[in-house]
Amino acid sequence: AYVIAEPCIGTKDSACVDACPVDCIHPKKDDASKFAATDMLFIDPVECIDCGACVPVCPVSAIYAADDLPEKWTSFTQKNAEYFGR
Ligand code: SF4
Repeated sequence: AYVIAEPCIGTKDSACVDACPVDCIHPKKDDASKFAATDMLFIDPVECIDCGACVPVCPVSAIYAADDLPEKWTSFTQKNAEYFGR
């Protein structure tokens, strides 16, 4: 699965949400209370189909294939999964 890392914190651009064909990036802006409650967005590792469509639309280059995730952001793999109770 793909993973959203630290650059998303405080950015929450949401272009990735619109680009994802399987709608597995949350929270969404129209879910206002959940959106306000997190400082970043997360990818559901079970639903993600590894298409890569979210990567080029992110303005802060926060999204990586799990295998390409920089070592300093390894903890974000778990953070993304935990948001979905995975
Ligand atoms: Fe969605 Fe594809 Fe990005 Fe996975 S890689 S989060 S399926 S856009």
